[in-house]
Amino acid sequence: MSKKYHIHTFGCQMNVHDSEKIAGIFNDTGYGTAEDSGDADIIVLNTCSIRAKAEQKFYSELGKLKKIKKKNPNLKIAVAGCIAQQSGKQLFKRFPYIDFLFGPDNIGSLNTLIEGGNGRTAIEHNPEYHTSVIPMKREGGLKAWVSIMYGCDNFCAYCIVPYTRGRERSRPASDIYNEVKSLADEGFKEITLLGQNVNSYGKNLPDNIDFPDLLSKLNEIDGLQRIRFVTSHPRDFSAKLTRAIRDLSKVCEHMHLPIQAGSDSVLKSMNRGYTYSEYKAKIDIIRDLDPYMAVTTDIIVGFPGETDEDFEKTIQALTEIEYDAIYAFKYSKRPGTEALYLPDHVDEEVKSSRLSRILKLQESICYRKNKILEGKVVEVLVDGPSENDPTRMTGRTRSNKIVNFSGDIADGGNSVFIKILEAKMHSLNGEKV
Ligand code: SAM
Ligand code: SF4
Repeated sequence: MSKKYHIHTFGCQMNVHDSEKIAGIFNDTGYGTAEDSGDADIIVLNTCSIRAKAEQKFYSELGKLKKIKKKNPNLKIAVAGCIAQQSGKQLFKRFPYIDFLFGPDNIGSLNTLIEGGNGRTAIEHNPEYHTSVIPMKREGGLKAWVSIMYGCDNFCAYCIVPYTRGRERSRPASDIYNEVKSLADEGFKEITLLGQNVNSYGKNLPDNIDFPDLLSKLNEIDGLQRIRFVTSHPRDFSAKLTRAIRDLSKVCEHMHLPIQAGSDSVLKSMNRGYTYSEYKAKIDIIRDLDPYMAVTTDIIVGFPGETDEDFEKTIQALTEIEYDAIYAFKYSKRPGTEALYLPDHVDEEVKSSRLSRILKLQESICYRKNKILEGKVVEVLVDGPSENDPTRMTGRTRSNKIVNFSGDIADGGNSVFIKILEAKMHSLNGEKV
């Protein structure tokens, strides 16, 4: 009987995609999938350290595994991802029941690691990782993530990513094209290109190619219906990219452009490289070129030194820009980052009350923006039955809004046209036309 693996993933899309690579390697090595931790021969915790909360979740899961391992001493425990990268061998000291550690750049060496002979740790940054070809186990058959670059060189003062994922490296365009082409040939209809700063794609590649050029190459692939991407850094944003989104038929009309804060002094100490008016000018370019393009953002509240007055500027920015959706976070102290050493850290209660104010304001904006869609017909790529109400089908518009409608199971995986009947805060209800 073949051995079985179980992966527990913490954090963002990038980590979920890394777990697909880890699963791909296990499958290639002859391992089967375990339904849960109790049934596995090896458990991988693929960790995230972007905020303290994600880290705490990992430590609590690791504590549970200690008990499982006591009952089954043959069980192997591997810790992957950003915490493995950052805490390294200290983790072995604190938690001696961990068997293996490997970082985001070392997924390719997992095979040799678990088969023995290569020690128990693989956490060196690997500048060649962007050219490695790694097998992948993707779920679903409709939507897939594709990495186009690794690492980040921006060193925003709050962020741990440049330390855990290393320097920015772009994958060769031909490798990306071939991967997307074979996904389309397998029947995948939507791909999301992943990178910490997709706007600087291609900077270090010998072929003279930038991100809009890459999009237009991928747009030619037959069978593919939708191309999405995350994340664009506002500093490197170009009008060329907005034109590419508007003009390339498969590229969805949605831009995720993290602002982080509305106050210039906070943006400066965050090391974001733009002022609010420079950021707003880019939003104006987007809206001039395509008024229907959805724009979403990330916000951090309670960055060290953020005064009430600074915070009001973030509120003003949200009111002025009217994003389609936001992801808002309380500032979280991260070891080794510049912001940790800044003066005037903000009290936890102040951060919480600022976060609730932001979320409340955004709810009213989302509702108002969704209301505009009532009576309109939108194209929806159908994921399948809704988790909340399996009698209804659910999917997303090109602008990434959730639409629920009464359809049938055969709509799953297809594009259908839906007339929006009712706007809700975070979704839309409609009927097939
Ligand atoms: N590379 C992307 C960019 O620059 O916009 C974002 C990557 S990061 C994984 C996603 C979001 O997490 C960031 O945009 C930021 O809002 C948030 N984030 C990162 N570090 C954080 C911290 N220390 N505390 C709170 N939020 C943080
Ligand atoms: Fe972190 Fe800034 Fe890089 Fe985004 S651009 S990953 S926030 S350092």
